[in-house]
Amino acid sequence: MLEHDVLIIGAGLAGMRAAIAARAGGANAAIISKVHPVRSHSSAAQGGINAALTDRGDEWEDHAYDTIKGSDYLGDQDAIEVMCRSAGQSLIDMEHMGVTFNRDEEGKLGTRAFGGQRRARTFFVGDFTGQALLHVMFEQLIKSGVQRYEEWFVTSLIIEEGQVAGVTALEIRTGKLHAIRAKSVIFCSGGCGRLFEPSTNALIVTGDGMALAYNAGAKLMDMEMVQYHPTTISGSGVLLSEAARGEGAYLRDKNGERFMEKYAPNMMELASRDVVSRSEQTEINAGNGVNGCVLLDCTHLGEKLIMEKLGQIRELGLDLTGKDMIKELVPIRPGMHYIMGGIKTDIDGQTNLPGVYAAGECANVSVHGGNRLGANSLLDTIVFGERSGTHAAAFTRGQSYINVNEGEVVAREEQRLQGMLDRPDNGDRWGKIRLAMGDSMNRNVAVFRNKEGIEETIQELQELKTRYTSVPVHNKGKVFNTDLIFALELGFMLDCAETIAVSALERKESRGAQFRIDYPKRDDENWLKHIVVSQGEVGPELSNLPVTITKWTPEERKY
Ligand SMILES: Cc1cc2nc3c(=O)[nH]c(=O)nc-3n(C[C@H](O)[C@H](O)[C@H](O)COP(=O)(O)OP(=O)(O)OC[C@H]3O[C@@H](n4cnc5c(N)ncnc54)[C@H](O)[C@@H]3O)c2cc1C
Repeated sequence: MLEHDVLIIGAGLAGMRAAIAARAGGANAAIISKVHPVRSHSSAAQGGINAALTDRGDEWEDHAYDTIKGSDYLGDQDAIEVMCRSAGQSLIDMEHMGVTFNRDEEGKLGTRAFGGQRRARTFFVGDFTGQALLHVMFEQLIKSGVQRYEEWFVTSLIIEEGQVAGVTALEIRTGKLHAIRAKSVIFCSGGCGRLFEPSTNALIVTGDGMALAYNAGAKLMDMEMVQYHPTTISGSGVLLSEAARGEGAYLRDKNGERFMEKYAPNMMELASRDVVSRSEQTEINAGNGVNGCVLLDCTHLGEKLIMEKLGQIRELGLDLTGKDMIKELVPIRPGMHYIMGGIKTDIDGQTNLPGVYAAGECANVSVHGGNRLGANSLLDTIVFGERSGTHAAAFTRGQSYINVNEGEVVAREEQRLQGMLDRPDNGDRWGKIRLAMGDSMNRNVAVFRNKEGIEETIQELQELKTRYTSVPVHNKGKVFNTDLIFALELGFMLDCAETIAVSALERKESRGAQFRIDYPKRDDENWLKHIVVSQGEVGPELSNLPVTITKWTPEERKY
Protein backbone atom coordinates (compact mmCIF):
# COMPACT_ATOMS: atom_id res chain seq x y z
CA MET A 1 0.00 0.00 0.00
CA LEU A 2 1.20 3.53 -0.73
CA GLU A 3 1.98 5.25 2.53
CA HIS A 4 3.60 8.45 3.72
CA ASP A 5 4.18 10.22 7.02
CA VAL A 6 2.87 13.46 5.58
CA LEU A 7 0.63 13.66 2.52
CA ILE A 8 0.09 17.10 1.06
CA ILE A 9 -3.02 17.62 -1.05
CA GLY A 10 -2.22 20.32 -3.59
CA ALA A 11 0.97 21.42 -5.32
CA GLY A 12 0.50 25.16 -5.53
CA LEU A 13 2.81 27.42 -3.57
CA ALA A 14 1.41 26.40 -0.18
CA GLY A 15 1.63 22.70 -0.96
CA MET A 16 5.13 22.72 -2.38
CA ARG A 17 6.41 24.89 0.48
CA ALA A 18 4.77 22.53 3.01
CA ALA A 19 6.21 19.46 1.29
CA ILE A 20 9.75 20.84 1.25
CA ALA A 21 9.46 21.77 4.94
CA ALA A 22 8.04 18.36 5.90
CA ARG A 23 10.89 16.63 4.05
CA ALA A 24 13.43 18.90 5.73
CA GLY A 25 11.84 17.90 9.03
CA GLY A 26 12.72 14.29 8.28
CA ALA A 27 9.29 13.08 7.18
CA ASN A 28 8.59 10.75 4.31
CA ALA A 29 6.50 13.37 2.49
CA ALA A 30 4.44 13.14 -0.68
CA ILE A 31 2.46 15.65 -2.67
CA ILE A 32 -0.61 14.98 -4.78
CA SER A 33 -2.09 17.29 -7.39
CA LYS A 34 -4.93 17.03 -9.86
CA VAL A 35 -2.92 19.05 -12.37
CA HIS A 36 0.79 19.22 -13.09
CA PRO A 37 2.18 21.25 -10.15
CA VAL A 38 3.20 24.31 -12.17
CA ARG A 39 -0.33 24.56 -13.58
CA SER A 40 -1.74 25.24 -10.09
CA HIS A 41 -3.55 28.55 -9.76
CA SER A 42 -0.59 30.08 -7.89
CA SER A 43 1.06 30.40 -11.31
CA ALA A 44 -1.58 32.97 -12.28
CA ALA A 45 -0.58 35.44 -9.55
CA GLN A 46 0.54 38.59 -11.25
CA GLY A 47 1.20 41.46 -8.89
CA GLY A 48 3.59 40.40 -6.17
CA ILE A 49 4.29 39.39 -2.58
CA ASN A 50 4.42 41.65 0.48
CA ALA A 51 7.18 41.94 3.05
CA ALA A 52 8.40 44.72 5.31
CA LEU A 53 12.20 44.83 5.12
CA THR A 54 13.78 46.70 8.01
CA ASP A 55 16.78 47.86 5.99
CA ARG A 56 14.27 49.68 3.74
CA GLY A 57 12.97 51.59 6.74
CA ASP A 58 9.85 49.45 6.80
CA GLU A 59 8.64 47.64 9.91
CA TRP A 60 6.63 44.45 10.27
CA GLU A 61 4.34 46.25 12.73
CA ASP A 62 3.33 48.69 9.98
CA HIS A 63 2.60 45.80 7.65
CA ALA A 64 0.59 44.16 10.44
CA TYR A 65 -1.41 47.33 11.06
CA ASP A 66 -2.23 47.72 7.35
CA THR A 67 -3.28 44.07 7.21
CA ILE A 68 -5.48 44.38 10.29
CA LYS A 69 -7.12 47.55 9.04
CA GLY A 70 -7.52 45.92 5.62
CA SER A 71 -9.23 42.95 7.30
CA ASP A 72 -11.74 45.38 8.82
CA TYR A 73 -10.55 44.13 12.21
CA LEU A 74 -11.76 40.58 11.62
CA GLY A 75 -8.25 39.12 11.20
CA ASP A 76 -6.74 37.42 14.26
CA GLN A 77 -3.90 39.67 15.28
CA ASP A 78 -1.67 36.91 16.71
CA ALA A 79 -1.69 35.17 13.31
CA ILE A 80 -1.11 38.44 11.45
CA GLU A 81 1.87 39.17 13.70
CA VAL A 82 3.37 35.78 12.82
CA MET A 83 2.89 36.35 9.09
CA CYS A 84 4.23 39.89 8.96
CA ARG A 85 7.17 39.15 11.26
CA SER A 86 8.23 36.19 9.08
CA ALA A 87 7.68 37.93 5.75
CA GLY A 88 11.15 39.42 5.32
CA GLN A 89 12.94 36.13 5.93
CA SER A 90 10.52 34.23 3.70
CA LEU A 91 11.14 36.70 0.90
CA ILE A 92 14.91 36.42 1.23
CA ASP A 93 14.60 32.63 1.31
CA MET A 94 12.71 32.75 -1.98
CA GLU A 95 15.36 35.01 -3.46
CA HIS A 96 18.10 32.62 -2.34
CA MET A 97 16.20 29.70 -3.85
CA GLY A 98 16.50 31.51 -7.18
CA VAL A 99 13.56 33.84 -7.73
CA THR A 100 14.78 36.72 -9.87
CA PHE A 101 12.78 39.56 -8.33
CA ASN A 102 12.77 42.88 -10.17
CA ARG A 103 15.40 45.28 -8.87
CA ASP A 104 15.47 49.07 -8.64
CA GLU A 105 18.03 51.53 -10.07
CA GLU A 106 20.35 50.88 -7.12
CA GLY A 107 20.24 47.16 -7.73
CA LYS A 108 18.17 46.48 -4.62
CA LEU A 109 15.04 44.36 -4.63
CA GLY A 110 12.37 46.55 -6.23
CA THR A 111 8.98 47.30 -4.75
CA ARG A 112 5.66 48.54 -6.04
CA ALA A 113 2.76 50.06 -4.11
CA PHE A 114 -0.28 47.88 -3.50
CA GLY A 115 -3.71 48.73 -2.18
CA GLY A 116 -4.47 49.47 1.45
CA GLN A 117 -0.81 49.88 2.40
CA ARG A 118 0.92 53.08 3.39
CA ARG A 119 4.24 51.93 1.94
CA ALA A 120 5.41 50.28 -1.24
CA ARG A 121 6.32 46.81 0.10
CA THR A 122 5.25 44.53 -2.70
CA PHE A 123 8.13 42.61 -4.29
CA PHE A 124 7.53 41.32 -7.78
CA VAL A 125 8.74 39.66 -10.94
CA GLY A 126 7.21 41.71 -13.79
CA ASP A 127 3.52 40.90 -13.74
CA PHE A 128 4.00 37.12 -13.45
CA THR A 129 5.25 36.83 -9.87
CA GLY A 130 3.30 33.66 -9.08
CA GLN A 131 4.69 31.80 -12.05
CA ALA A 132 8.23 32.83 -11.14
CA LEU A 133 7.81 31.69 -7.54
CA LEU A 134 6.08 28.46 -8.48
CA HIS A 135 8.71 27.34 -10.98
CA VAL A 136 11.53 27.97 -8.53
CA MET A 137 9.60 26.13 -5.82
CA PHE A 138 9.07 23.21 -8.18
CA GLU A 139 12.82 22.95 -8.75
CA GLN A 140 13.30 22.83 -4.99
CA LEU A 141 10.59 20.19 -4.69
CA ILE A 142 12.34 17.96 -7.21
CA LYS A 143 15.64 18.48 -5.43
CA SER A 144 14.08 17.58 -2.06
CA GLY A 145 13.11 14.10 -3.20
CA VAL A 146 9.48 14.44 -2.15
CA GLN A 147 7.33 11.79 -3.85
CA ARG A 148 4.97 13.40 -6.40
CA TYR A 149 1.60 12.11 -7.56
CA GLU A 150 0.98 14.40 -10.50
CA GLU A 151 -2.43 14.43 -12.16
CA TRP A 152 -3.97 12.36 -9.40
CA PHE A 153 -7.39 13.48 -8.18
CA VAL A 154 -8.29 13.02 -4.51
CA THR A 155 -11.85 11.72 -4.40
CA SER A 156 -12.32 11.13 -0.67
CA LEU A 157 -10.66 10.97 2.72
CA ILE A 158 -10.12 7.62 4.40
CA ILE A 159 -11.55 7.80 7.93
CA GLU A 160 -10.62 4.99 10.31
CA GLU A 161 -11.16 4.88 14.06
CA GLY A 162 -12.74 8.32 13.75
CA GLN A 163 -9.52 9.76 12.30
CA VAL A 164 -8.30 10.83 8.89
CA ALA A 165 -5.96 8.03 7.81
CA GLY A 166 -5.26 8.95 4.19
CA VAL A 167 -7.03 9.54 0.90
CA THR A 168 -8.45 7.71 -2.07
CA ALA A 169 -7.25 9.14 -5.36
CA LEU A 170 -7.89 8.58 -9.03
CA GLU A 171 -4.82 8.33 -11.25
CA ILE A 172 -6.27 10.44 -14.04
CA ARG A 173 -4.10 9.01 -16.82
CA THR A 174 -5.17 5.42 -16.21
CA GLY A 175 -8.42 5.73 -14.28
CA LYS A 176 -7.02 3.47 -11.55
CA LEU A 177 -8.22 4.19 -8.04
CA HIS A 178 -5.63 4.09 -5.24
CA ALA A 179 -5.68 4.32 -1.47
CA ILE A 180 -2.81 6.27 0.08
CA ARG A 181 -2.27 5.90 3.80
CA ALA A 182 -0.86 8.84 5.75
CA LYS A 183 -0.12 9.72 9.36
CA SER A 184 -0.88 13.31 8.61
CA VAL A 185 -2.66 15.13 5.79
CA ILE A 186 -2.09 18.77 4.85
CA PHE A 187 -4.75 20.43 2.72
CA CYS A 188 -3.14 22.91 0.33
CA SER A 189 -5.88 22.53 -2.22
CA GLY A 190 -6.51 26.19 -3.03
CA GLY A 191 -9.66 28.29 -3.03
CA CYS A 192 -13.14 27.82 -4.47
CA GLY A 193 -13.40 30.85 -6.75
CA ARG A 194 -15.08 29.03 -9.59
CA LEU A 195 -18.29 28.55 -7.73
CA PHE A 196 -18.89 32.12 -8.80
CA GLU A 197 -19.28 32.93 -12.49
CA PRO A 198 -17.36 34.74 -13.71
CA SER A 199 -14.22 34.58 -11.57
CA THR A 200 -10.55 35.46 -12.02
CA ASN A 201 -9.69 31.95 -10.87
CA ALA A 202 -8.57 29.03 -13.03
CA LEU A 203 -11.28 26.48 -13.84
CA ILE A 204 -9.62 24.00 -11.46
CA VAL A 205 -10.26 26.18 -8.38
CA THR A 206 -13.28 24.27 -7.12
CA GLY A 207 -12.96 24.02 -3.33
CA ASP A 208 -12.34 20.25 -3.29
CA GLY A 209 -10.20 20.31 -0.15
CA MET A 210 -12.49 22.64 1.78
CA ALA A 211 -15.45 20.40 1.06
CA LEU A 212 -13.57 17.19 1.88
CA ALA A 213 -12.34 18.61 5.19
CA TYR A 214 -15.76 20.06 6.04
CA ASN A 215 -17.50 16.77 5.37
CA ALA A 216 -14.94 15.01 7.58
CA GLY A 217 -15.74 17.34 10.50
CA ALA A 218 -13.29 20.21 10.03
CA LYS A 219 -14.54 23.68 10.82
CA LEU A 220 -14.73 26.35 8.13
CA MET A 221 -14.53 30.00 9.20
CA ASP A 222 -15.37 33.44 7.70
CA MET A 223 -16.83 31.81 4.58
CA GLU A 224 -18.99 34.88 3.91
CA MET A 225 -15.87 36.90 3.16
CA VAL A 226 -15.47 36.71 -0.61
CA GLN A 227 -13.19 39.18 -2.34
CA TYR A 228 -14.29 40.95 -5.50
CA HIS A 229 -11.25 42.40 -7.24
CA PRO A 230 -11.69 45.91 -8.66
CA THR A 231 -10.10 45.30 -12.05
CA THR A 232 -11.42 42.30 -13.95
CA ILE A 233 -12.52 42.04 -17.55
CA SER A 234 -16.26 41.93 -18.11
CA GLY A 235 -17.57 38.60 -19.34
CA SER A 236 -14.49 36.39 -19.05
CA GLY A 237 -13.69 37.62 -15.54
CA VAL A 238 -9.95 37.61 -16.31
CA LEU A 239 -7.84 39.68 -13.91
CA LEU A 240 -5.88 42.80 -14.73
CA SER A 241 -3.51 42.96 -11.77
CA GLU A 242 -3.58 45.61 -9.07
CA ALA A 243 0.00 46.13 -10.25
CA ALA A 244 -1.47 48.56 -12.81
CA ARG A 245 -2.83 50.83 -10.07
CA GLY A 246 0.33 50.09 -8.06
CA GLU A 247 2.33 51.59 -10.92
CA GLY A 248 0.01 54.62 -10.93
CA ALA A 249 -3.05 53.84 -13.10
CA TYR A 250 -6.28 55.78 -12.54
CA LEU A 251 -9.91 54.71 -12.44
CA ARG A 252 -12.32 56.91 -14.37
CA ASP A 253 -16.07 57.06 -14.92
CA LYS A 254 -17.73 57.70 -18.27
CA ASN A 255 -17.10 61.46 -17.91
CA GLY A 256 -13.42 60.94 -17.24
CA GLU A 257 -13.73 61.75 -13.51
CA ARG A 258 -11.43 59.99 -11.03
CA PHE A 259 -14.38 58.97 -8.90
CA MET A 260 -12.28 57.44 -6.09
CA GLU A 261 -11.82 61.02 -4.85
CA LYS A 262 -15.32 60.77 -3.40
CA TYR A 263 -14.74 57.48 -1.59
CA ALA A 264 -11.09 57.39 -0.52
CA PRO A 265 -9.57 60.87 -0.86
CA ASN A 266 -6.22 59.86 0.62
CA MET A 267 -5.49 56.48 -0.93
CA MET A 268 -7.63 57.02 -4.07
CA GLU A 269 -7.24 54.03 -6.44
CA LEU A 270 -5.06 52.28 -3.87
CA ALA A 271 -7.66 51.99 -1.13
CA SER A 272 -8.34 48.42 -0.06
CA ARG A 273 -10.03 46.15 -2.59
CA ASP A 274 -13.43 45.95 -0.89
CA VAL A 275 -13.63 49.75 -0.82
CA VAL A 276 -12.60 50.20 -4.46
CA SER A 277 -14.92 47.44 -5.73
CA ARG A 278 -17.85 48.91 -3.82
CA SER A 279 -17.12 52.39 -5.16
CA GLU A 280 -16.97 51.10 -8.72
CA GLN A 281 -20.22 49.17 -8.35
CA THR A 282 -21.92 52.23 -6.86
CA GLU A 283 -20.85 54.32 -9.87
CA ILE A 284 -21.90 51.61 -12.33
CA ASN A 285 -25.31 51.29 -10.61
CA ALA A 286 -25.72 55.08 -10.74
CA GLY A 287 -25.28 55.01 -14.50
CA ASN A 288 -21.80 56.53 -14.50
CA GLY A 289 -20.13 53.54 -16.10
CA VAL A 290 -19.78 52.34 -19.68
CA ASN A 291 -21.56 49.05 -20.49
CA GLY A 292 -21.43 47.85 -16.88
CA CYS A 293 -17.77 48.82 -16.48
CA VAL A 294 -15.60 51.71 -15.35
CA LEU A 295 -12.33 52.58 -17.06
CA LEU A 296 -8.73 51.79 -16.17
CA ASP A 297 -6.44 54.55 -17.39
CA CYS A 298 -2.74 53.68 -17.83
CA THR A 299 -2.10 56.05 -20.71
CA HIS A 300 0.06 58.43 -18.62
CA LEU A 301 2.41 55.61 -17.49
CA GLY A 302 4.25 55.47 -20.80
CA GLU A 303 5.03 52.62 -23.15
CA LYS A 304 8.41 51.82 -21.58
CA LEU A 305 7.03 51.18 -18.07
CA ILE A 306 4.03 49.26 -19.38
CA MET A 307 6.14 47.00 -21.57
CA GLU A 308 8.66 46.41 -18.79
CA LYS A 309 6.37 45.85 -15.84
CA LEU A 310 2.85 45.27 -17.12
CA GLY A 311 3.44 43.46 -20.39
CA GLN A 312 1.27 40.46 -19.65
CA ILE A 313 -1.78 42.44 -18.58
CA ARG A 314 -1.42 44.77 -21.55
CA GLU A 315 -1.69 41.69 -23.75
CA LEU A 316 -4.68 40.38 -21.79
CA GLY A 317 -6.43 43.73 -22.21
CA LEU A 318 -5.63 43.78 -25.91
CA ASP A 319 -6.78 40.20 -26.52
CA LEU A 320 -9.93 40.31 -24.42
CA THR A 321 -11.18 43.91 -24.79
CA GLY A 322 -9.40 45.06 -27.94
CA LYS A 323 -7.99 48.05 -26.02
CA ASP A 324 -4.28 48.84 -25.85
CA MET A 325 -3.57 50.29 -22.41
CA ILE A 326 -0.58 52.20 -23.76
CA LYS A 327 -2.94 54.56 -25.53
CA GLU A 328 -6.50 53.59 -24.61
CA LEU A 329 -8.68 53.22 -21.51
CA VAL A 330 -9.56 49.62 -20.67
CA PRO A 331 -13.08 48.75 -19.42
CA ILE A 332 -12.98 46.81 -16.14
CA ARG A 333 -15.39 45.87 -13.36
CA PRO A 334 -15.38 44.18 -9.94
CA GLY A 335 -15.14 40.40 -10.23
CA MET A 336 -14.90 37.46 -7.86
CA HIS A 337 -11.26 36.82 -7.02
CA TYR A 338 -10.46 35.23 -3.66
CA ILE A 339 -12.00 33.61 -0.61
CA MET A 340 -10.81 34.91 2.75
CA GLY A 341 -12.63 32.09 4.55
CA GLY A 342 -11.51 28.48 4.65
CA ILE A 343 -10.57 25.58 6.88
CA LYS A 344 -9.96 27.00 10.32
CA THR A 345 -6.41 26.44 11.54
CA ASP A 346 -4.05 27.67 14.23
CA ILE A 347 -0.74 29.36 13.40
CA ASP A 348 0.89 25.96 12.76
CA GLY A 349 -1.79 24.91 10.29
CA GLN A 350 -3.53 22.50 12.68
CA THR A 351 -7.26 22.05 12.19
CA ASN A 352 -9.68 20.72 14.79
CA LEU A 353 -9.08 17.19 13.43
CA PRO A 354 -5.98 15.43 14.82
CA GLY A 355 -3.22 15.12 12.22
CA VAL A 356 -5.11 17.21 9.67
CA TYR A 357 -3.54 20.50 8.61
CA ALA A 358 -4.39 23.19 6.10
CA ALA A 359 -2.44 26.04 4.49
CA GLY A 360 -2.80 28.50 1.65
CA GLU A 361 -6.06 29.71 0.18
CA CYS A 362 -8.08 26.69 1.36
CA ALA A 363 -7.12 27.52 4.95
CA ASN A 364 -8.15 30.29 7.25
CA VAL A 365 -5.41 31.05 9.77
CA SER A 366 -7.26 34.31 9.98
CA VAL A 367 -4.70 36.65 8.48
CA HIS A 368 -7.10 38.21 5.96
CA GLY A 369 -10.27 38.61 8.02
CA GLY A 370 -12.95 40.49 6.10
CA ASN A 371 -10.70 41.62 3.26
CA ARG A 372 -7.28 40.46 2.05
CA LEU A 373 -4.69 43.01 1.01
CA GLY A 374 -3.28 42.43 -2.45
CA ALA A 375 0.01 40.48 -2.34
CA ASN A 376 -0.66 39.08 1.14
CA SER A 377 -1.89 35.75 -0.21
CA LEU A 378 1.36 34.59 -1.79
CA LEU A 379 2.96 35.50 1.52
CA ASP A 380 0.33 33.52 3.44
CA THR A 381 1.01 30.43 1.28
CA ILE A 382 4.76 30.57 1.87
CA VAL A 383 4.72 31.37 5.59
CA PHE A 384 1.96 29.01 6.65
CA GLY A 385 2.85 26.33 4.09
CA GLU A 386 6.26 26.10 5.70
CA ARG A 387 4.91 26.16 9.27
CA SER A 388 2.37 23.40 8.53
CA GLY A 389 4.96 21.18 6.87
CA THR A 390 7.37 21.59 9.76
CA HIS A 391 4.71 20.96 12.38
CA ALA A 392 3.21 17.96 10.59
CA ALA A 393 6.65 16.35 10.27
CA ALA A 394 7.18 16.70 14.01
CA PHE A 395 3.66 15.43 14.74
CA THR A 396 4.21 12.22 12.77
CA ARG A 397 7.56 11.43 14.37
CA GLY A 398 7.09 8.29 16.47
CA GLN A 399 3.45 7.90 15.34
CA SER A 400 2.34 4.67 13.76
CA TYR A 401 -0.06 4.26 10.86
CA ILE A 402 -3.73 3.68 11.54
CA ASN A 403 -4.90 0.34 10.15
CA VAL A 404 -6.52 0.66 6.75
CA ASN A 405 -8.08 -2.22 4.84
CA GLU A 406 -6.90 -1.17 1.40
CA GLY A 407 -9.01 -3.60 -0.62
CA GLU A 408 -12.18 -2.64 1.17
CA VAL A 409 -11.55 1.11 0.98
CA VAL A 410 -10.78 1.00 -2.74
CA ALA A 411 -13.73 -1.27 -3.52
CA ARG A 412 -16.15 1.02 -1.66
CA GLU A 413 -14.93 4.12 -3.48
CA GLU A 414 -14.89 2.36 -6.86
CA GLN A 415 -18.47 1.37 -6.27
CA ARG A 416 -19.45 4.97 -5.52
CA LEU A 417 -17.80 6.25 -8.70
CA GLN A 418 -19.30 3.41 -10.73
CA GLY A 419 -22.67 4.47 -9.36
CA MET A 420 -22.12 7.89 -10.92
CA LEU A 421 -21.06 6.35 -14.24
CA ASP A 422 -24.11 4.07 -14.26
CA ARG A 423 -26.66 6.84 -13.81
CA PRO A 424 -29.37 7.05 -16.45
CA ASP A 425 -28.96 9.84 -18.94
CA ASN A 426 -31.97 11.88 -17.91
CA GLY A 427 -30.53 14.46 -15.52
CA ASP A 428 -28.88 17.81 -16.20
CA ARG A 429 -25.25 17.85 -17.23
CA TRP A 430 -22.77 19.12 -14.64
CA GLY A 431 -22.06 22.23 -16.73
CA LYS A 432 -25.63 23.44 -16.53
CA ILE A 433 -25.77 23.11 -12.75
CA ARG A 434 -22.32 24.66 -12.32
CA LEU A 435 -23.35 27.69 -14.35
CA ALA A 436 -26.66 28.08 -12.49
CA MET A 437 -24.77 27.98 -9.19
CA GLY A 438 -22.20 30.50 -10.44
CA ASP A 439 -24.89 32.88 -11.69
CA SER A 440 -26.83 32.68 -8.47
CA MET A 441 -23.78 33.35 -6.29
CA ASN A 442 -22.68 36.24 -8.48
CA ARG A 443 -26.17 37.73 -8.44
CA ASN A 444 -26.86 37.53 -4.72
CA VAL A 445 -23.64 36.90 -2.78
CA ALA A 446 -21.49 39.52 -4.52
CA VAL A 447 -20.36 43.10 -3.74
CA PHE A 448 -23.77 44.14 -2.40
CA ARG A 449 -25.98 41.63 -0.59
CA ASN A 450 -29.33 41.55 1.20
CA LYS A 451 -31.51 39.04 3.01
CA GLU A 452 -33.92 38.33 0.15
CA GLY A 453 -31.15 37.77 -2.35
CA ILE A 454 -29.11 35.47 -0.13
CA GLU A 455 -32.22 33.48 0.78
CA GLU A 456 -33.03 33.09 -2.89
CA THR A 457 -29.54 31.67 -3.49
CA ILE A 458 -29.80 29.28 -0.54
CA GLN A 459 -33.06 28.01 -2.00
CA GLU A 460 -31.54 27.68 -5.47
CA LEU A 461 -28.56 25.80 -4.07
CA GLN A 462 -30.89 23.30 -2.38
CA GLU A 463 -32.58 22.64 -5.71
CA LEU A 464 -29.25 22.34 -7.50
CA LYS A 465 -28.03 19.87 -4.86
CA THR A 466 -31.06 17.70 -5.52
CA ARG A 467 -30.50 17.89 -9.28
CA TYR A 468 -26.82 17.09 -8.72
CA THR A 469 -27.66 13.62 -7.42
CA SER A 470 -28.80 12.63 -10.92
CA VAL A 471 -26.05 14.30 -12.99
CA PRO A 472 -25.11 11.80 -15.69
CA VAL A 473 -21.50 11.11 -16.70
CA HIS A 474 -21.42 10.51 -20.44
CA ASN A 475 -17.81 9.37 -20.71
CA LYS A 476 -17.63 5.82 -19.35
CA GLY A 477 -13.93 5.44 -20.14
CA LYS A 478 -10.94 5.13 -17.82
CA VAL A 479 -8.31 7.31 -19.45
CA PHE A 480 -8.48 11.05 -18.63
CA ASN A 481 -12.14 10.92 -17.73
CA THR A 482 -12.52 14.66 -17.14
CA ASP A 483 -16.29 14.26 -17.40
CA LEU A 484 -16.24 12.25 -14.16
CA ILE A 485 -13.78 14.63 -12.51
CA PHE A 486 -15.85 17.72 -13.34
CA ALA A 487 -18.92 15.97 -11.93
CA LEU A 488 -17.03 15.22 -8.70
CA GLU A 489 -15.77 18.81 -8.48
CA LEU A 490 -19.31 20.12 -8.79
CA GLY A 491 -20.29 18.21 -5.64
CA PHE A 492 -17.47 19.90 -3.72
CA MET A 493 -18.48 23.28 -5.11
CA LEU A 494 -22.10 23.00 -4.06
CA ASP A 495 -21.04 22.21 -0.48
CA CYS A 496 -18.73 25.24 -0.36
CA ALA A 497 -21.37 27.51 -1.92
CA GLU A 498 -23.85 26.58 0.76
CA THR A 499 -21.42 27.42 3.58
CA ILE A 500 -20.76 30.83 1.98
CA ALA A 501 -24.43 31.69 1.56
CA VAL A 502 -25.53 30.65 5.06
CA SER A 503 -22.65 32.60 6.63
CA ALA A 504 -23.49 35.69 4.56
CA LEU A 505 -27.09 35.46 5.73
CA GLU A 506 -25.99 35.07 9.33
CA ARG A 507 -23.72 38.15 9.49
CA LYS A 508 -26.13 41.03 9.96
CA GLU A 509 -23.71 43.89 9.47
CA SER A 510 -21.33 45.27 6.86
CA ARG A 511 -17.64 44.54 7.34
CA GLY A 512 -14.87 44.07 4.78
CA ALA A 513 -16.12 42.25 1.72
CA GLN A 514 -19.53 41.59 3.26
CA PHE A 515 -21.74 44.58 2.51
CA ARG A 516 -25.37 44.08 3.52
CA ILE A 517 -27.55 46.85 2.13
CA ASP A 518 -30.07 45.92 4.83
CA TYR A 519 -27.38 46.36 7.54
CA PRO A 520 -25.04 48.97 6.03
CA LYS A 521 -22.99 49.67 9.19
CA ARG A 522 -20.20 47.76 10.87
CA ASP A 523 -21.44 46.60 14.25
CA ASP A 524 -18.53 45.77 16.55
CA GLU A 525 -20.77 45.29 19.54
CA ASN A 526 -22.56 42.30 18.04
CA TRP A 527 -20.41 41.12 15.16
CA LEU A 528 -16.74 41.52 16.03
CA LYS A 529 -16.54 37.74 15.89
CA HIS A 530 -15.95 34.92 13.45
CA ILE A 531 -18.70 32.79 11.99
CA VAL A 532 -17.76 29.11 12.03
CA VAL A 533 -19.56 26.50 9.91
CA SER A 534 -19.54 22.78 10.68
CA GLN A 535 -21.32 19.98 8.87
CA GLY A 536 -24.27 18.93 11.02
CA GLU A 537 -26.82 16.11 10.76
CA VAL A 538 -29.01 17.97 8.28
CA GLY A 539 -26.71 20.64 6.90
CA PRO A 540 -24.46 23.49 7.96
CA GLU A 541 -24.37 24.40 11.66
CA LEU A 542 -23.17 27.84 12.69
CA SER A 543 -21.28 28.96 15.76
CA ASN A 544 -18.95 31.82 16.68
CA LEU A 545 -15.39 32.37 17.79
CA PRO A 546 -13.92 35.57 19.20
CA VAL A 547 -11.46 37.65 17.18
CA THR A 548 -7.97 37.68 18.73
CA ILE A 549 -6.87 41.24 19.38
CA THR A 550 -3.31 41.81 20.56
CA LYS A 551 -2.54 45.52 20.43
CA TRP A 552 -4.54 47.14 17.63
CA THR A 553 -7.94 48.33 18.87
CA PRO A 554 -10.65 48.40 16.22
CA GLU A 555 -11.29 51.88 14.86
CA GLU A 556 -13.23 53.43 12.03
CA ARG A 557 -11.79 52.49 8.67
CA LYS A 558 -11.03 55.34 6.27
CA TYR A 559 -8.69 55.47 3.28
C1 LIG B 1 -5.41 35.63 -11.38
C2 LIG B 1 -4.90 35.67 -9.96
C3 LIG B 1 -3.90 36.55 -9.61
C4 LIG B 1 -3.44 36.61 -8.30
N1 LIG B 1 -2.43 37.48 -7.97
C5 LIG B 1 -1.94 37.47 -6.72
C6 LIG B 1 -0.84 38.30 -6.37
O1 LIG B 1 -0.28 39.01 -7.20
N2 LIG B 1 -0.40 38.28 -5.10
C7 LIG B 1 -0.96 37.50 -4.15
O2 LIG B 1 -0.51 37.51 -3.01
N3 LIG B 1 -2.00 36.68 -4.45
C8 LIG B 1 -2.49 36.65 -5.71
N4 LIG B 1 -3.53 35.81 -6.01
C9 LIG B 1 -4.00 34.85 -5.00
C10 LIG B 1 -2.99 33.71 -4.88
O3 LIG B 1 -2.39 33.47 -6.12
C11 LIG B 1 -3.64 32.43 -4.40
O4 LIG B 1 -4.43 32.67 -3.28
C12 LIG B 1 -2.57 31.40 -4.03
O5 LIG B 1 -1.63 31.27 -5.06
C13 LIG B 1 -3.19 30.06 -3.71
O6 LIG B 1 -2.16 29.12 -3.54
P1 LIG B 1 -2.43 27.68 -2.95
O7 LIG B 1 -1.13 27.00 -2.89
O8 LIG B 1 -3.22 27.81 -1.70
O9 LIG B 1 -3.41 26.99 -4.01
P2 LIG B 1 -3.29 26.75 -5.58
O10 LIG B 1 -2.11 27.37 -6.19
O11 LIG B 1 -4.63 27.08 -6.12
O12 LIG B 1 -3.08 25.17 -5.68
C14 LIG B 1 -4.10 24.25 -5.34
C15 LIG B 1 -3.56 22.85 -5.58
O13 LIG B 1 -4.50 21.89 -5.10
C16 LIG B 1 -4.61 20.84 -6.03
N5 LIG B 1 -5.92 20.21 -5.84
C17 LIG B 1 -7.11 20.81 -5.63
N6 LIG B 1 -8.08 19.88 -5.52
C18 LIG B 1 -7.49 18.66 -5.67
C19 LIG B 1 -7.95 17.31 -5.67
N7 LIG B 1 -9.24 17.00 -5.53
N8 LIG B 1 -7.04 16.32 -5.84
C20 LIG B 1 -5.73 16.61 -6.02
N9 LIG B 1 -5.24 17.86 -6.04
C21 LIG B 1 -6.11 18.87 -5.86
C22 LIG B 1 -4.42 21.51 -7.37
O14 LIG B 1 -4.02 20.58 -8.34
C23 LIG B 1 -3.32 22.51 -7.05
O15 LIG B 1 -2.06 21.90 -7.15
C24 LIG B 1 -4.01 35.75 -7.32
C25 LIG B 1 -5.01 34.86 -7.68
C26 LIG B 1 -5.46 34.83 -8.98
C27 LIG B 1 -6.59 33.87 -9.30
